[in-house]
Amino acid sequence: MILPGATLGVLGGGQLGRMFTLAATVMGYRVVVLDPDPLSPAGQLADIHLRADYRDAVALLRMGELCDAVTTEFENVPAESLEMLARHCLVAPSPAALAVAQDRLAEKTLAREFGCATAPYANIESADDLAAAWSAVGAPALLKTRRLGYDGKGQARIDSLDAFVATFAKFGSAPCLLESFLPLEREVSVVLARNAQGEIAYFPLAENRHRNGILDVSIVPARIPDTLVAQTREMAGHIAAGLDYVGVLAVEFFVLADGSVVFNEMAPRPHNSGHYTLDACASDQFEQQVRALCGLPLGDTRLLSPVVMVNLLGDIWQPQPRWAELLRHPGVKLHLYGKAEARPGRKMGHYNCLAESVEAALELARTTRAALGIG
Ligand code: AMP
Repeated sequence: MILPGATLGVLGGGQLGRMFTLAATVMGYRVVVLDPDPLSPAGQLADIHLRADYRDAVALLRMGELCDAVTTEFENVPAESLEMLARHCLVAPSPAALAVAQDRLAEKTLAREFGCATAPYANIESADDLAAAWSAVGAPALLKTRRLGYDGKGQARIDSLDAFVATFAKFGSAPCLLESFLPLEREVSVVLARNAQGEIAYFPLAENRHRNGILDVSIVPARIPDTLVAQTREMAGHIAAGLDYVGVLAVEFFVLADGSVVFNEMAPRPHNSGHYTLDACASDQFEQQVRALCGLPLGDTRLLSPVVMVNLLGDIWQPQPRWAELLRHPGVKLHLYGKAEARPGRKMGHYNCLAESVEAALELARTTRAALGIG
């Protein structure tokens, strides 16, 4: 067990690293952040901010020497960096688990191995595979780059063979999946934590709505039958145990009109759809990340209040949203990430609407969104 007073490191200085830093600091740990951006959201709050690239051998060595344990806040950390760190301190999740989550083909293959259904898909390594993929999947479909896609980037709707060929070229002929476009009834996510002892704690399921490929709101508890809650948790738990995963893991699922559940993707870290836990659960996902990393018993994930989380994107910074309109509601809890520059689509913060029922939380979300001019 790594106990308070020790030093924890996080690779990546974005908002997830910032909220990890806050949780670890509250629990009495020191925090080292590695991120090249001098103004990074996490670097601003860390005890030590190493301003260097994630591949910088000198910075990684320093981090390894300073820290008792290191985790990451994004999945695209180079495996070699983690392996370098692992020679000096504990690293979790493992480079192998991260490698699976870095590649849509690897994660879908793994999900299928653990009995989860996925959308029908075809793998495309080069232009030679386009014709076979098209006859196997057909329209309507989504073309997704296997690596580095996020928030709807590296992803396009495909309705014709011509569009397919052109989009593959636009994606630089990088390895892709062509995936059937499914009629989604709902999207849900399971956020769980697993520690090295194999203990797993599940947060309540979130029901997620997206806009332009970016998470817009999460509604908790999700309005789906208990049987589906149990089923998705079981699948996510199998994946975590199968990977011998240590840390916080988010697994996204689609619920189809016939009530079946389909695995979409996973994230080897706390997740935007788990931000509601910051105000609505006994322990939040970042405290859980600290506990899992340090080999501590996991915290209580009980939901204390129905909640709707609303993402705040840079689009409404002109130059600042009308905070007074938002904060006059006592049930609203605001979280801003300390980003100096607001750009359209950039995640600047979020707020949680707490209320006595999901309906009342949704109403509070509706009223406050209108006041802030969120479309
Ligand atoms: P992803 O990056 O895979 O999470 O996709 C981003 C969003 O696109 C998802 O949250 C869904 O709203 C939508 N999406 C992704 N895959 C599919 C699919 N196979 N069918 C329908 N919608 C999808």
